[in-house]
Amino acid sequence: MIVGIDAGGTLIKVAYAEAGEIHFAKYPIAEMEQVADWINGLDQAAICVTGGKSGVLRSFLTKETAEMVEFEATHLGVQYLLEKMGRSDDAYLVTNVGTGTSIHCIQNNTQERLGGTGIGGGTLIGLSHLLTGLTDFDEIVRLASNGSRERIDLKVKHIYEGKEPPISGELTASNFGQDLFSISSELSVEELLATVIGLVGETVSTVSVQAARQCSSSTIIYIGSSFIENALLKQVVESYTILRGSIPLFLENGEFSGAVGAMKSLE
Ligand code: ATP
Ligand code: MG
Repeated sequence: MIVGIDAGGTLIKVAYAEAGEIHFAKYPIAEMEQVADWINGLDQAAICVTGGKSGVLRSFLTKETAEMVEFEATHLGVQYLLEKMGRSDDAYLVTNVGTGTSIHCIQNNTQERLGGTGIGGGTLIGLSHLLTGLTDFDEIVRLASNGSRERIDLKVKHIYEGKEPPISGELTASNFGQDLFSISSELSVEELLATVIGLVGETVSTVSVQAARQCSSSTIIYIGSSFIENALLKQVVESYTILRGSIPLFLENGEFSGAVGAMKSLE
């Protein structure tokens, strides 16, 4: 058996191959010791760890493990998952919306980090919690999908009142930028959460399309657990990326890219 583990800031992602089949699992970072127990109990397994918390995970392990630089593992995993989808892209951007967001250009078979933003999945959960008290990712996402940003986000057309705006009036001029002082007590949890997801989605796609200018490709592959069962975030990111002339792609099992790459490095 070969096992790849990506221990990130929020979630531990595991990919393992047994009898030619790949399995996936994910755990909150608080369950690191249980993951370590599982690894320590495996016999005849080759293991490779990656991610920002891989050093902490390794301190719980009684076995020899390989370690891989996170960005290289992600690159290898994305390549494999692309092939699984029947694609053979050799140049593309990868935007990993994890706890934070990191953007990479892959060309000539090498990856280069182009930048990132602190707005990511951690922001999604953190701001949502501060605004509504909720703590569960799935619940936040479910409620957000029934919300409207209409009363909270300020659009370009709201500023350009009575005259033609120089850019699309439908673009967001200011996330959370409407005059909220008078309506703050009327706003629903759904509206607030939808607007948080809008903020995160528009920020990561804005930074990504700008980064695409430094890469020979304009295909942006979005990965990271922030997109899990999160149709609203995908929709915001997809429409904004297309509007700005890039091509968005969501990878099947993309949140496991780092774990898959770590696993593949053992083959
Ligand atoms: P980083 O790569 O920045 O170190 P990470 O690898 O832990 O962090 P991901 O697992 O890709 O990051 O994504 C974490 C985000 O996924 C969370 O911030 C949250 O928005 C979202 N998420 C999805 N499912 C869950 C869950 N079950 N529990 C907590 N967060 C979740
Ligand atoms: Mg990560």
